[in-house]
Amino acid sequence: MCVDRLISTAVIISRIRRALPIVLGHDPLLPFHRSPVLLQRLYQSPHIPLLLAVSYLLKLLKRCSSCSYPILVKSGVEWIVEATEQLRGVTHSRRAVRMLLNVLAVAAVSAAVLYVLYKWLIPAAVQNSGWLALIWHDVIVERVLNILTGLSRPQRMLKAVQKNATKGDPQSVIAAIDYYCRHKEWAMNVGDDKGPILDSVVSEVNPSTALELGTYCGYSTVRIARLLSPGSKLITVEFNPAYAAVARQIIAHAGLQNKVTLVEGGSGDLIPKIKEQFGITSFDFVFLDHWKDRYLPDIKLLEDCGLLKKGSVLLADNVICPGTPEYLEYVRNSPRYKSQYFQSYLEYTKAEDGLEKSVFLG
Ligand code: SAH
Ligand code: CA
Repeated sequence: MCVDRLISTAVIISRIRRALPIVLGHDPLLPFHRSPVLLQRLYQSPHIPLLLAVSYLLKLLKRCSSCSYPILVKSGVEWIVEATEQLRGVTHSRRAVRMLLNVLAVAAVSAAVLYVLYKWLIPAAVQNSGWLALIWHDVIVERVLNILTGLSRPQRMLKAVQKNATKGDPQSVIAAIDYYCRHKEWAMNVGDDKGPILDSVVSEVNPSTALELGTYCGYSTVRIARLLSPGSKLITVEFNPAYAAVARQIIAHAGLQNKVTLVEGGSGDLIPKIKEQFGITSFDFVFLDHWKDRYLPDIKLLEDCGLLKKGSVLLADNVICPGTPEYLEYVRNSPRYKSQYFQSYLEYTKAEDGLEKSVFLG
């Protein structure tokens, strides 16, 4: 406490001590005058100026009026009590405002800390671990954003495409989704790290008939379909109707609806019906990107249904993260396949993932 403040405290206290006995008939500060803490509190109290004002007023009235002193003192004391009650109300509301400001400050600081954690620190911490990244983005963030926006992640991606991509331009659709998923919200598209590997295999195979297992929002569908030669066809399979509805709109936005047939249903049900339903004898290219435990049973189904011919190329995503050990074991050890691993990263992270290209040898 500075010297000025000490002096002004002392001056005010001594004035009060002199004034109050005149008003009240006794010194109410007597019990406090030895305690610096209490004096300091009194100094800060909003009652003090009022008490001083009242005591001076009473002094003045006593001198100038013919009223009897006890009546004047009584009404003065009543006035002080009333004014003090009012002031206490003001003090309470001031305290309430101060408390509210404190609560707001704590809320603002907590919100800022949470935002930094959510936006930068946790994503940076989890991006080297595929599993942590999947838990963070796919389980926690997606649910929180669903609640906050009232939309699903595919719907948010669709909005980003409709807002930022040019109609009929597949490249701008891919760019809009990649931008959205790198900067706003992670999603399980094959993405812009593994995407060029998918592109190069599709371009190399140049398939007339292609099958994709697992459409999600149609990101990889657009990537594949944009590279198909005129007259070529891609069948893509998705068993989640909500994802399929979004994928249809994204594929249409890219202007690729004539090259793509989106089938809503489970891969295990569809594969045995493909020949009959679509008049397809075999696939030149198959992209496996549905649930990982379905990779192995579904390629065995494709083999059994005669949908693979010599030279058919299978490309499997996520063979490291989340991983497909039984499938890798099968294609790498079976004499019917020539298999090769392409190392890359799990979409929109720095965690290792890769694609397995397996050529069917007949
Ligand atoms: N290929 C997409 C991502 C697919 S994510 C892309 O890169 O853009 C996997 C998708 O497969 C999910 O949408 C899931 O609903 C779907 N899926 C999983 N198992 C399936 C099955 N057995 N049949 C059909 N769809 C399946
Ligand atoms: Ca994938």
